[in-house]
Formats: sequence, structure tokens, C-alpha cells
Amino acid sequence: MTEPADPEPSVGWGLLLWRGATRRCPRCGAGRLYKGWFRMVDRCGGCGMRFEREPGFFVGAYLINFAIVIVLLFVLCMVFVAMKAVDHEASVLPVIVVGLPMALLAPVVFYPYSRTIWSAFDIGMTPLSDEERTAAAAALASGDVGTIAQS
Ligand SMILES: [Zn+2]
Repeated sequence: MTEPADPEPSVGWGLLLWRGATRRCPRCGAGRLYKGWFRMVDRCGGCGMRFEREPGFFVGAYLINFAIVIVLLFVLCMVFVAMKAVDHEASVLPVIVVGLPMALLAPVVFYPYSRTIWSAFDIGMTPLSDEERTAAAAALASGDVGTIAQS
């Protein structure tokens, strides 16, 4: 007796997050998900998966982006603490000179990564439903993938 084929081969968390961290589709690993730096395609060109799985889906991406910036600023603060431990007269100015641009630019730099990382988390926690897989296959068959809806 044979088991029915798994319709969606499970991908491990390591591969999911690696794909997300490299701006690739977490489901199939395809790239070219962005037109420019900010505009993400609606459906993956490799597997047809719709990235915005429900309204408000990408709120989680903002959390990822925020967490990345907080970690960077925390590391910078720890560097300052270490500097103060070595030299009590160390100035806070270099930390501000580095930290302020970092706080402003890091969210922009990590924006596309945060979206694909969030997609990876979401796929890992909630695999695609039968309806989503069917819609992805239909979109792929009709060529309605890799584009950005005009709004
Ligand atoms: Zn894909």
C-alpha cells in the first residue's frame, strides 16, 4: 500500500528563512520578486503563489523590519557601553553619527528582505491551503504571475 503523494512537499525552516533572507520566494526559491527596490510582484513567477495571502498580510513584515533595526541599534548601544568601559571619557557623538543614519536607512535597506522573510515565516506556520495551491497553479498556467497590480 502506497501513501498518496504529498501535494506540497514540506520545506524545512532553514531553507524557508534562507530563501526569505535572500529575497526569494519561500515556497519555490524563485527570485525576481521585485520591480525596483520597493515594488513586490503580486504572484511569484516561479510557482504562482500570491504573497499577500490576506488583507493586512504585510503588517508582519513591518514587525520584522522593526526588529532588525532594533537589533542593530542594540548592538550599537552595546558597542558604546564597551567603549565607555575602556575609556570613561568616550564621547557619545560617534554613536549618534552612526546610529542616526542607521535608524533612518536600515528600514529602507531591509524593507524588501523583511517582506520575503515574513512570507517565509507565514508559509512555515500556515502552509498554503488547497484553494491557494489551485489558484497559484491557475495563475502560473495563465501567465498571470510576476506582475504588480496597478492601484
Ligand atoms: Zn514561488
